[in-house]
Amino acid sequence: MGETKGQSRQGRGGNILLILALILMLAVVGSALFILTHVGKTVKEYKKQSAALDKVRAELEAEQELRDKHIEEKAQMEFDDDAIAETRKEVFASAAQLEKDIKAGRNKAKICYLTFDDGPYYRGNTILKILNKYDVKATFFLTTANGDRLPDKAELSAASMYPEYLRYGHTIGNHTYSHDYDKGGIYKNANAFMKDMKKQEDFTVKASDGYDPKIVRFPGGRATAGKSLGDIETALRKGGYGWADWTVDSGDSWGKGNTSPKIIMKQIKEAAKDQDVMVILCHEWSKDTQKALPEMIEYLQGEGYIFLPMFYESSTVLK
Ligand SMILES: [Zn+2]
Repeated sequence: MGETKGQSRQGRGGNILLILALILMLAVVGSALFILTHVGKTVKEYKKQSAALDKVRAELEAEQELRDKHIEEKAQMEFDDDAIAETRKEVFASAAQLEKDIKAGRNKAKICYLTFDDGPYYRGNTILKILNKYDVKATFFLTTANGDRLPDKAELSAASMYPEYLRYGHTIGNHTYSHDYDKGGIYKNANAFMKDMKKQEDFTVKASDGYDPKIVRFPGGRATAGKSLGDIETALRKGGYGWADWTVDSGDSWGKGNTSPKIIMKQIKEAAKDQDVMVILCHEWSKDTQKALPEMIEYLQGEGYIFLPMFYESSTVLK
């Protein structure tokens, strides 16, 4: 019995030790688990963060690479000029026919000409990226008013952007060299306008290795030319140029407080109600346009529009 008692006392003591050991073990395991979970979470979080950082870094590197390429190559990007010119000719010939058919009611298709004025901006690359994503072609009316440096990336020459537009299949238009429509500027008379416009044409041809669009957009639109309009149009016609306004103003130049992606969409939706052939005025510097662009494209595609770059033979180009 005594032995049993002793054994049992010993056993009790052992039990207490065992329980203490268990508690200790649980505490250790518990805190280890606690620490592990937290560390695990932190590691996961860190990994997530570093993945995001890696992505940003990669994007920055890619952008830098593109910039370096621009700086190095400037306007010397490789083109198969003849093949491009030939394809363009074919596309534009059938597009001109399609326009005629639409206007005559023989075809229910709809055409949208997206136009961006006042570039080049490097920001245009965001526009180019969006257009590229949707495989949409547009028209860029360029000016050298900002000098031969991009206003938002001064280390890049403006000329370096010209081949970029063409490479993606867009067309370039002439928005005059100075864009100066103040009194005494380009609208003083036809001579002043033609001189300035031709200066921009020379710049375009040089920057884009021979590409000469022959399509002009009046800064501020034709109405801004005032009493010189008739003379200017005569001079343009004589010189073999075409000129184009727009059928819908996106409103992106209406100034702070008067414009927004919402207002832009409202303008577009209103126009889509009754315009089968639509020319949209946007500006390359507009952040609102950048924001609205994906929705604009998706909406118009949903309404059955096909996007085309503007071309000389189009009925939207006056001659
Ligand atoms: Zn302009």
